[in-house]
Amino acid sequence: MNEGKARQVVLAARPQGKPKLTDFRLEETEVPTPSSGQVLLLVRYLSLDPYMRLMMDDRESYTKPVLLDGVMPGEAVATVIVSKHSGYVEGDIVLARTGWRTHALSDGAGLRKLDSGKAPVTTALGVLGMPGFTAYSGLRLIGKPQPGETVVVAAASGPVGSLVGQLAKMAGSRAVGIAGGPEKCAFVKNELRFDAAIDHRSADFPARLAAACPNGIDVYFENVGGDIWQAVLPLLNPFARVPVCGLIAHYNGAGPGNGADRLPETMRHILTKRLTLRGFINYDFAEHHAEFLREVGAGIAEGCIRYREDIVDGLEKAPEAFIGMLEGRNFGKLIVRVNA
Ligand code: NDP
Repeated sequence: MNEGKARQVVLAARPQGKPKLTDFRLEETEVPTPSSGQVLLLVRYLSLDPYMRLMMDDRESYTKPVLLDGVMPGEAVATVIVSKHSGYVEGDIVLARTGWRTHALSDGAGLRKLDSGKAPVTTALGVLGMPGFTAYSGLRLIGKPQPGETVVVAAASGPVGSLVGQLAKMAGSRAVGIAGGPEKCAFVKNELRFDAAIDHRSADFPARLAAACPNGIDVYFENVGGDIWQAVLPLLNPFARVPVCGLIAHYNGAGPGNGADRLPETMRHILTKRLTLRGFINYDFAEHHAEFLREVGAGIAEGCIRYREDIVDGLEKAPEAFIGMLEGRNFGKLIVRVNA
């Protein structure tokens, strides 16, 4: 690839089930020229997030599908390299919805300037970004953890789950994380300081989860669905709250896996235990964003909130890394370093 050119990753085909590398195409284009009122951005770090899988299907969700041959969408940390916009100068570092590309134009709409002196800029894609705010708003405003309660979250080593558990601990609750494999579980227990971490790949996972929650579950922060939801459901206490944040086990179109229709049983638990399940998208709670940045930013600066990033080098590696995330191969917030 020519270094003087721009590059982008487009959706080449709609995936049937799990995405394949051939569902993506890397293209070379001219570097665009900004007009008056625009800036030219050089993408430094691109965020890869599970919601992007939903946008690859031709199905209306809370986001619109990506068009075939359209650039894959996504948020990035970028540097202004040419400015014809009065609000920006060359060298400004911004958070922008550039998509999977090396260069992008912007008229300033939706850009947010970042201060690299306050926190590493990559945190704007993870713990201090959209995933962190999702954890903060869903747990605080829907889960409402109380001292002594048990809070369970899956995908616990990722950017959403890792903050859910740490905020639950700060609220005086017990935090139980579910993660894939011993290495992730050790990180969740030892680094993030959850009270327990359970491997959902272990054969006796439902029994281990039950043993880790001797007083049942008061808040289940749903990131996954599928078999994990089936193991959690019987453990929910009366009046438990379930912020329904994500259902990654279903994003490739696969069901719980054992063929049984558990919906009637699910509904029985919802009724008899008077459960509150509430779906949410982080931006429903936009008015709480400033307090999130203040509180979680201070927690990171003081060292009482921890996070982990999984950084992959090169835009051409984005499809492989994204496919890996849907299979749990990422360990921490998945970010692509597009330009150092
Ligand atoms: P992560 O970085 O944690 O990556 C996804 C993780 O999900 C994988 O690493 C894997 O972890 C786990 N996973 C994938 N497939 C399965 C499966 N079949 N069963 C169990 N675990 C699985 O992701 P995020 O923290 O960014 O996102 C977590 C969830 O939050 C997602 O469902 C996402 O869609 C949702 N979300 C919702 C938002 C909202 O506004 N409602 C906003 C942002 C995210 P492991 O190996 O530990 O199993």
